Formats: sequence, structure tokens, C-alpha cells
Amino acid sequence: MNERSEEIVYSVNYITHTRDELIAHLKEAISSKRVEHILGVEKTAVELAAQYGENAEKASIAALLHDFAKERPDEEMRDLIISENMDLELLQFGNNIWHGPTGASLVQTRFGVTDEDILNAIRNHTVGAPEMRLLEKIIYVADYIEPGRHFPGVEEARRLAYTDLDAAVAYATEQTLRHLLEKRAKIYPKAIETYNKWVAGKVKGY
Ligand code: GDP
Ligand code: FE
Ligand code: FE
Repeated sequence: MNERSEEIVYSVNYITHTRDELIAHLKEAISSKRVEHILGVEKTAVELAAQYGENAEKASIAALLHDFAKERPDEEMRDLIISENMDLELLQFGNNIWHGPTGASLVQTRFGVTDEDILNAIRNHTVGAPEMRLLEKIIYVADYIEPGRHFPGVEEARRLAYTDLDAAVAYATEQTLRHLLEKRAKIYPKAIETYNKWVAGKVKGY
């Protein structure tokens, strides 16, 4: 099993680009700070994939593309939400909530990605979902704990990620919601669904 992201050779099963081509593309389209974050997510996701038995190539592709729509203009994203018949509730929010679902759509059209695991991992990486498959959990958690993240609790989240992935999902969900409530931010309904499934009523195991 490959644990080092730099050594992964793509098979063409999931994307026709090589990993180097994909990274070169990201560097042209996205700010260097965000590319750094994305590479951190990839490194972490590939390690978690090795530990939990996920396909390393799928983890690498999903991680490299997870924030693809993060720097796209609001107008373009609004148009995409409407033209792709996405949840219209999205329009009450902003790019923070849009870039997962719109990113999945862009990645499908621009890179020809069709693998549902990869698309769902991108789609749900910000607010999670009540039901998440292994790759979705890996990207959700890797995004939260990648080496460039520095906030109180990140060490605990990292410890959990490498011991109990589901506990790490619950921890990240609880902490994110706490943080949003603290700021009195508007909560996207699906984030509450994620909380209800992963956190509410559970015995605190961390
Ligand atoms: P990033 O794209 O790597 O910065 O990370 P994420 O995609 O996980 O999150 C983007 C932002 O969305 C973060 O600042 C989160 O705190 C924020 N966010 C997550 N859930 C919600 C929500 O329900 N409501 C709002 N307003 N923001 C949220
Ligand atoms: Fe994101
Ligand atoms: Fe991210």
C-alpha cells in the first residue's frame, strides 16, 4: 500500500491526467496558499487511505480536487447551482458552502471524473453527510487535520484520525458546529443532519 502521495502513479481509471499535470493545473488556477493546503490534505488523505484500506489513487484525486471551486466567482457558482438543479437552499449561503457541490460538478465536466466516491467526497467535504462512505470520511477529516491547520483541538483531531476515523468525523463535526455557533454564523441544514447522525445522543468518546 502506498502511503506517500508523491509516489502515486495514476492508472487512468479515474482521471486521464497524471498527478503532476493535475498539480500543474491547480497551480495555474488556484492561489499558492491554497495549493499548499490542498497538498497537505492529499498527504494526510493518502496516509489515512493506507491505514483504513481505501484506494490511494482515489484519495489523492479527491484531495487534490476537493477545493477546486473555492476561488471561483460567486456569479459563476450561482449560475451552476441553478443550471445543474442543485438544492436552491444553497443560494442562501456563500462560497464556503457552495464550493463542495459546485466543485464536484466542475470536476466532472473539466476533468471527466465520474467515480461517485470521488465526486461525493468533494461534494460533502465541508458539511459532511449523515451517511458517508470511507473516502468521504477520509477527505472530510484530512481537510480538518492537514499539517497546515493550526487551531485548538487539532492535535486531538489528529490523534483520533489515526486511531478511530468515525470518532474523528464526530469530533470535527462537533467542533465545527461549536465554532459556527460561537460566531453566530448561519448553519447549512445538511450540517445539522450531519451533527444529528454523528454527534447527537452519542456518548462522548474523546
Ligand atoms: P476549506 O475549504 O479548506 O477552507 O474548508 P471547508 O470546506 O471545510 O470549510 C469552509 C468554511 O465553511 C469553513 O470556514 C467552515 O467553518 C465553514 N462552514 C462549514 N459549515 C458551515 C455552515 O453550516 N455554515 C456556514 N456559514 N459556514 C460553514
Ligand atoms: Fe473546502
Ligand atoms: Fe480544504
